[in-house]
Amino acid sequence: MKPRLDTQLATKSARMPSWAFLDGEVVPYGQARFGLFTHALHYGTGLFAGMRAFWNDEERQLFVFRPEDHFRRFRESARLLRMDLPFSIEDLTRGVIEVLRREGYEQDVYIRPLAFYGDESLGVRLHDLTPRVGIAAMPSQFMDRNDGLHACFSSWRRVSDNMIPPRGKLAGSYVNSALAKTDAVLAGFDEALMLNDAGHVCEGSVANLFIVRRGEVVTPPITDDVLEGITRSTMMQLARERGHTVVERSIDRTEVYLADEAFFCGTGMHVTPIKRVDHRLIGDGDVGPVTRVLRDLYFDVVRGRSGAHREWCRPVFARSDMPVRLESNVERISAA
Ligand code: PMP
Repeated sequence: MKPRLDTQLATKSARMPSWAFLDGEVVPYGQARFGLFTHALHYGTGLFAGMRAFWNDEERQLFVFRPEDHFRRFRESARLLRMDLPFSIEDLTRGVIEVLRREGYEQDVYIRPLAFYGDESLGVRLHDLTPRVGIAAMPSQFMDRNDGLHACFSSWRRVSDNMIPPRGKLAGSYVNSALAKTDAVLAGFDEALMLNDAGHVCEGSVANLFIVRRGEVVTPPITDDVLEGITRSTMMQLARERGHTVVERSIDRTEVYLADEAFFCGTGMHVTPIKRVDHRLIGDGDVGPVTRVLRDLYFDVVRGRSGAHREWCRPVFARSDMPVRLESNVERISAA
Protein backbone atom coordinates (compact mmCIF):
# COMPACT_ATOMS: atom_id res chain seq x y z
CA MET A 1 0.00 0.00 0.00
CA LYS A 2 1.27 3.46 -0.85
CA PRO A 3 1.92 5.52 2.28
CA ARG A 4 0.07 8.82 2.47
CA LEU A 5 1.57 12.23 2.87
CA ASP A 6 3.69 12.22 6.00
CA THR A 7 2.82 15.25 8.13
CA GLN A 8 6.34 15.32 9.53
CA LEU A 9 7.51 16.44 6.12
CA ALA A 10 6.42 19.80 7.50
CA THR A 11 10.08 20.33 8.26
CA LYS A 12 11.56 19.04 5.02
CA SER A 13 14.03 21.54 3.66
CA ALA A 14 15.37 22.34 0.21
CA ARG A 15 18.86 23.04 1.47
CA MET A 16 21.21 22.02 4.26
CA PRO A 17 22.45 24.61 6.76
CA SER A 18 25.73 26.47 6.26
CA TRP A 19 26.42 27.13 9.96
CA ALA A 20 26.09 25.34 13.27
CA PHE A 21 26.60 26.20 16.92
CA LEU A 22 28.97 23.55 18.23
CA ASP A 23 30.07 23.46 21.87
CA GLY A 24 29.91 27.22 22.22
CA GLU A 25 31.18 28.36 18.83
CA VAL A 26 29.54 28.98 15.48
CA VAL A 27 31.33 26.84 12.89
CA PRO A 28 30.70 25.77 9.29
CA TYR A 29 27.97 23.10 9.36
CA GLY A 30 30.26 20.52 7.75
CA GLN A 31 32.63 20.76 10.70
CA ALA A 32 30.10 19.03 12.96
CA ARG A 33 31.15 15.44 12.28
CA PHE A 34 31.22 12.58 14.76
CA GLY A 35 32.83 9.14 14.87
CA LEU A 36 31.24 5.74 14.53
CA PHE A 37 31.79 4.90 18.20
CA THR A 38 29.92 8.00 19.44
CA HIS A 39 28.05 6.90 22.56
CA ALA A 40 24.67 8.51 21.73
CA LEU A 41 24.61 6.87 18.31
CA HIS A 42 24.55 3.44 19.92
CA TYR A 43 22.46 3.97 23.05
CA GLY A 44 20.26 6.98 22.31
CA THR A 45 21.94 8.96 25.10
CA GLY A 46 21.01 12.35 23.76
CA LEU A 47 18.22 14.87 23.90
CA PHE A 48 16.95 17.55 21.61
CA ALA A 49 14.61 20.45 21.07
CA GLY A 50 12.54 21.34 18.04
CA MET A 51 11.98 25.05 17.68
CA ARG A 52 10.74 27.37 14.99
CA ALA A 53 11.39 30.89 13.88
CA PHE A 54 8.68 32.67 11.89
CA TRP A 55 9.28 35.35 9.27
CA ASN A 56 7.16 38.46 9.68
CA ASP A 57 7.15 40.21 6.32
CA GLU A 58 5.55 43.49 7.49
CA GLU A 59 8.31 44.00 10.05
CA ARG A 60 11.00 42.27 7.97
CA GLN A 61 11.91 40.40 11.11
CA LEU A 62 12.45 36.77 12.07
CA PHE A 63 10.93 35.78 15.41
CA VAL A 64 12.07 32.70 17.35
CA PHE A 65 9.09 31.33 19.25
CA ARG A 66 9.58 30.87 23.02
CA PRO A 67 13.27 29.89 22.85
CA GLU A 68 13.76 30.30 26.61
CA ASP A 69 10.97 27.80 27.31
CA HIS A 70 12.39 25.32 24.81
CA PHE A 71 15.83 25.64 26.37
CA ARG A 72 14.46 25.29 29.89
CA ARG A 73 13.02 21.92 28.86
CA PHE A 74 16.26 21.13 26.98
CA ARG A 75 18.27 21.65 30.15
CA GLU A 76 15.78 19.61 32.16
CA SER A 77 15.99 16.78 29.63
CA ALA A 78 19.77 16.90 30.09
CA ARG A 79 19.33 16.60 33.86
CA LEU A 80 17.28 13.44 33.32
CA LEU A 81 20.35 11.98 31.58
CA ARG A 82 22.65 13.19 34.36
CA MET A 83 24.20 15.54 31.85
CA ASP A 84 25.82 18.77 33.02
CA LEU A 85 25.34 21.25 30.23
CA PRO A 86 27.95 24.01 30.24
CA PHE A 87 25.47 26.46 28.64
CA SER A 88 22.70 28.48 30.27
CA ILE A 89 19.32 29.18 28.70
CA GLU A 90 20.67 32.62 27.73
CA ASP A 91 23.85 31.15 26.16
CA LEU A 92 21.77 28.75 24.08
CA THR A 93 19.30 31.44 23.02
CA ARG A 94 22.22 33.64 21.94
CA GLY A 95 23.60 30.64 20.05
CA VAL A 96 20.38 30.20 18.08
CA ILE A 97 20.21 33.89 17.25
CA GLU A 98 23.84 33.91 16.12
CA VAL A 99 23.27 30.90 13.84
CA LEU A 100 20.13 32.46 12.34
CA ARG A 101 21.91 35.77 11.75
CA ARG A 102 24.83 34.06 10.03
CA GLU A 103 22.43 32.09 7.85
CA GLY A 104 20.57 35.34 7.11
CA TYR A 105 17.26 33.52 6.81
CA GLU A 106 14.36 35.70 5.77
CA GLN A 107 11.81 32.90 5.82
CA ASP A 108 10.30 30.41 8.26
CA VAL A 109 12.89 28.05 9.72
CA TYR A 110 13.03 24.93 11.83
CA ILE A 111 15.73 24.85 14.50
CA ARG A 112 17.20 21.70 16.00
CA PRO A 113 19.27 21.98 19.20
CA LEU A 114 20.86 18.69 20.21
CA ALA A 115 22.92 17.55 23.20
CA PHE A 116 24.43 14.10 23.42
CA TYR A 117 27.15 12.06 25.00
CA GLY A 118 29.84 12.41 22.38
CA ASP A 119 32.58 10.16 23.76
CA GLU A 120 33.82 7.54 21.35
CA SER A 121 33.45 5.02 24.10
CA LEU A 122 31.17 2.03 24.26
CA GLY A 123 29.43 0.69 27.39
CA VAL A 124 25.86 1.32 28.48
CA ARG A 125 25.85 4.02 31.17
CA LEU A 126 25.16 7.66 31.91
CA HIS A 127 28.29 8.34 33.98
CA ASP A 128 31.86 9.27 33.01
CA LEU A 129 30.72 10.75 29.72
CA THR A 130 31.11 14.16 28.09
CA PRO A 131 28.24 16.16 26.59
CA ARG A 132 28.44 17.82 23.19
CA VAL A 133 25.98 20.51 22.15
CA GLY A 134 24.98 21.49 18.64
CA ILE A 135 22.35 23.73 17.08
CA ALA A 136 21.50 24.04 13.40
CA ALA A 137 18.56 25.49 11.51
CA MET A 138 17.07 25.06 8.09
CA PRO A 139 14.28 26.65 6.07
CA SER A 140 10.99 24.90 6.51
CA GLN A 141 8.05 24.86 4.25
CA PHE A 142 4.89 24.17 6.18
CA MET A 143 2.83 21.54 4.43
CA ASP A 144 -0.55 22.62 5.60
CA ARG A 145 -2.89 19.91 6.86
CA ASN A 146 -5.62 22.41 7.45
CA ASP A 147 -8.04 19.85 6.03
CA GLY A 148 -7.33 17.54 8.99
CA LEU A 149 -5.79 14.16 9.64
CA HIS A 150 -6.97 10.60 9.96
CA ALA A 151 -5.34 9.10 13.08
CA CYS A 152 -5.44 5.63 14.55
CA PHE A 153 -4.80 4.26 18.02
CA SER A 154 -1.46 2.52 17.92
CA SER A 155 -0.90 -0.98 19.24
CA TRP A 156 2.39 0.40 20.66
CA ARG A 157 2.15 1.82 24.18
CA ARG A 158 3.83 5.11 25.09
CA VAL A 159 6.97 4.78 27.20
CA SER A 160 6.23 5.75 30.79
CA ASP A 161 8.02 7.77 33.44
CA ASN A 162 9.63 4.63 34.87
CA MET A 163 10.80 3.38 31.47
CA ILE A 164 12.16 6.35 29.53
CA PRO A 165 10.71 9.57 30.98
CA PRO A 166 8.51 11.10 28.28
CA ARG A 167 8.42 14.53 29.94
CA GLY A 168 11.88 15.12 28.43
CA LYS A 169 12.81 15.02 24.75
CA LEU A 170 15.22 12.12 25.02
CA ALA A 171 16.61 10.85 21.74
CA GLY A 172 16.27 7.14 22.57
CA SER A 173 12.56 7.42 23.34
CA TYR A 174 11.83 8.45 19.77
CA VAL A 175 12.14 4.83 18.69
CA ASN A 176 8.81 4.46 20.51
CA SER A 177 7.30 7.31 18.45
CA ALA A 178 8.83 5.99 15.23
CA LEU A 179 7.34 2.50 15.73
CA ALA A 180 3.88 3.99 16.20
CA LYS A 181 4.20 6.53 13.38
CA THR A 182 5.44 4.15 10.72
CA ASP A 183 2.87 1.48 11.52
CA ALA A 184 0.13 4.12 11.30
CA VAL A 185 1.37 5.46 7.96
CA LEU A 186 1.85 1.99 6.46
CA ALA A 187 -1.70 1.10 7.55
CA GLY A 188 -3.00 4.09 5.58
CA PHE A 189 -3.44 6.62 8.41
CA ASP A 190 -1.70 9.97 8.73
CA GLU A 191 -0.69 9.78 12.37
CA ALA A 192 -0.74 7.58 15.48
CA LEU A 193 -2.39 8.25 18.80
CA MET A 194 -0.74 6.45 21.68
CA LEU A 195 -2.13 5.09 24.93
CA ASN A 196 0.04 4.96 28.02
CA ASP A 197 0.68 1.83 30.04
CA ALA A 198 -2.43 2.51 32.14
CA GLY A 199 -4.54 2.66 28.96
CA HIS A 200 -5.14 6.43 28.97
CA VAL A 201 -4.79 8.52 25.84
CA CYS A 202 -1.40 10.28 25.69
CA GLU A 203 -0.37 12.04 22.53
CA GLY A 204 0.67 11.59 18.92
CA SER A 205 4.13 10.52 17.79
CA VAL A 206 5.41 14.12 17.96
CA ALA A 207 2.49 16.22 19.14
CA ASN A 208 0.22 16.75 22.13
CA LEU A 209 -3.50 16.12 21.88
CA PHE A 210 -6.53 18.28 22.69
CA ILE A 211 -10.18 17.32 22.42
CA VAL A 212 -13.24 19.51 22.71
CA ARG A 213 -16.18 17.80 24.39
CA ARG A 214 -19.33 19.22 25.97
CA GLY A 215 -17.94 22.73 25.77
CA GLU A 216 -14.63 21.97 27.50
CA VAL A 217 -11.17 21.94 25.99
CA VAL A 218 -9.48 18.85 27.44
CA THR A 219 -5.89 17.62 27.28
CA PRO A 220 -4.12 14.76 29.11
CA PRO A 221 -2.13 15.78 32.20
CA ILE A 222 1.67 15.62 32.05
CA THR A 223 1.49 12.78 34.59
CA ASP A 224 -0.18 10.61 31.92
CA ASP A 225 3.22 10.24 30.19
CA VAL A 226 3.16 13.10 27.73
CA LEU A 227 5.85 15.56 26.76
CA GLU A 228 5.71 18.92 28.53
CA GLY A 229 4.88 20.56 25.20
CA ILE A 230 5.53 24.25 24.66
CA THR A 231 2.72 24.45 22.09
CA ARG A 232 0.45 22.61 24.55
CA SER A 233 1.05 25.30 27.14
CA THR A 234 0.60 28.02 24.48
CA MET A 235 -2.74 26.54 23.40
CA MET A 236 -3.96 26.17 26.98
CA GLN A 237 -3.21 29.82 27.63
CA LEU A 238 -4.75 31.05 24.36
CA ALA A 239 -7.86 28.93 24.92
CA ARG A 240 -8.31 30.27 28.45
CA GLU A 241 -7.84 33.84 27.23
CA ARG A 242 -10.63 33.17 24.69
CA GLY A 243 -12.89 32.23 27.61
CA HIS A 244 -12.77 28.44 27.20
CA THR A 245 -12.70 26.09 30.15
CA VAL A 246 -9.46 24.13 29.79
CA VAL A 247 -9.16 20.89 31.74
CA GLU A 248 -6.10 18.68 32.21
CA ARG A 249 -7.36 15.18 32.96
CA SER A 250 -6.98 11.60 31.83
CA ILE A 251 -8.83 10.85 28.61
CA ASP A 252 -10.28 7.46 27.64
CA ARG A 253 -9.96 6.17 24.12
CA THR A 254 -13.72 6.28 23.53
CA GLU A 255 -13.92 9.90 24.63
CA VAL A 256 -11.79 10.71 21.62
CA TYR A 257 -14.26 8.85 19.40
CA LEU A 258 -17.11 10.89 20.92
CA ALA A 259 -15.30 14.25 20.92
CA ASP A 260 -16.84 17.20 19.07
CA GLU A 261 -13.38 18.30 17.94
CA ALA A 262 -9.82 17.09 18.28
CA PHE A 263 -6.45 18.51 17.29
CA PHE A 264 -2.75 17.81 17.59
CA CYS A 265 -0.35 20.57 18.51
CA GLY A 266 3.40 20.78 18.53
CA THR A 267 6.24 22.78 17.07
CA GLY A 268 6.45 20.48 14.04
CA MET A 269 2.70 20.05 13.44
CA HIS A 270 1.60 23.51 14.60
CA VAL A 271 -2.13 23.08 15.26
CA THR A 272 -3.48 20.28 13.10
CA PRO A 273 -7.12 19.20 13.21
CA ILE A 274 -7.98 15.51 13.53
CA LYS A 275 -11.01 14.68 11.44
CA ARG A 276 -11.21 10.92 11.85
CA VAL A 277 -9.87 8.39 14.34
CA ASP A 278 -9.98 4.67 13.60
CA HIS A 279 -12.43 5.28 10.73
CA ARG A 280 -14.80 7.22 12.99
CA LEU A 281 -15.65 10.84 12.25
CA ILE A 282 -14.75 13.34 14.95
CA GLY A 283 -17.79 15.60 15.36
CA ASP A 284 -19.28 16.00 11.90
CA GLY A 285 -15.92 15.26 10.28
CA ASP A 286 -15.10 18.87 9.54
CA VAL A 287 -12.65 21.24 11.25
CA GLY A 288 -14.58 22.44 14.31
CA PRO A 289 -15.12 26.11 15.29
CA VAL A 290 -12.95 26.02 18.43
CA THR A 291 -10.03 24.41 16.58
CA ARG A 292 -10.36 26.88 13.71
CA VAL A 293 -10.29 29.96 15.96
CA LEU A 294 -7.45 28.70 18.17
CA ARG A 295 -5.43 27.70 15.14
CA ASP A 296 -5.76 31.18 13.55
CA LEU A 297 -4.85 32.75 16.88
CA TYR A 298 -1.77 30.51 17.15
CA PHE A 299 -0.48 31.56 13.72
CA ASP A 300 -0.98 35.25 14.51
CA VAL A 301 0.83 34.89 17.83
CA VAL A 302 3.84 32.88 16.61
CA ARG A 303 4.46 35.26 13.72
CA GLY A 304 4.34 38.26 16.06
CA ARG A 305 1.23 39.59 14.31
CA SER A 306 -0.96 39.59 17.35
CA GLY A 307 -0.67 42.46 19.82
CA ALA A 308 -0.74 39.79 22.51
CA HIS A 309 2.19 37.67 23.59
CA ARG A 310 5.00 39.50 21.86
CA GLU A 311 6.99 38.38 24.88
CA TRP A 312 7.06 34.89 23.31
CA CYS A 313 8.58 36.19 20.05
CA ARG A 314 12.32 36.74 20.16
CA PRO A 315 13.58 38.96 17.30
CA VAL A 316 16.68 37.72 15.49
CA PHE A 317 17.81 40.80 13.62
CA ALA A 318 18.77 43.94 15.50
CA ARG A 319 17.28 46.28 12.91
CA SER A 320 17.15 49.97 13.58
CA ASP A 321 14.32 50.29 11.04
CA MET A 322 12.32 47.56 12.74
CA PRO A 323 9.08 48.75 14.27
CA VAL A 324 9.06 47.58 17.86
CA ARG A 325 5.73 47.50 19.64
CA LEU A 326 6.69 46.51 23.15
CA GLU A 327 9.25 47.76 25.61
CA SER A 328 10.34 44.24 26.49
CA ASN A 329 11.39 43.64 22.91
CA VAL A 330 13.63 46.70 22.91
CA GLU A 331 15.59 45.15 25.74
CA ARG A 332 15.63 41.82 24.00
CA ILE A 333 17.10 43.25 20.80
CA SER A 334 19.94 45.00 22.58
CA ALA A 335 20.62 41.90 24.67
CA ALA A 336 20.80 39.66 21.60
N1 PMP B 1 4.92 15.22 22.15
C1 PMP B 1 6.01 14.71 21.56
C2 PMP B 1 6.30 13.26 21.77
C3 PMP B 1 6.83 15.50 20.77
O1 PMP B 1 7.93 14.99 20.19
C4 PMP B 1 6.51 16.87 20.58
C5 PMP B 1 7.38 17.74 19.70
N2 PMP B 1 8.38 18.36 20.44
C6 PMP B 1 5.38 17.38 21.22
C7 PMP B 1 4.60 16.53 22.00
C8 PMP B 1 5.04 18.83 21.13
O2 PMP B 1 5.94 19.59 21.89
P1 PMP B 1 6.30 21.10 21.54
O3 PMP B 1 5.00 21.82 21.47
O4 PMP B 1 7.15 21.57 22.66
O5 PMP B 1 6.99 21.09 20.23
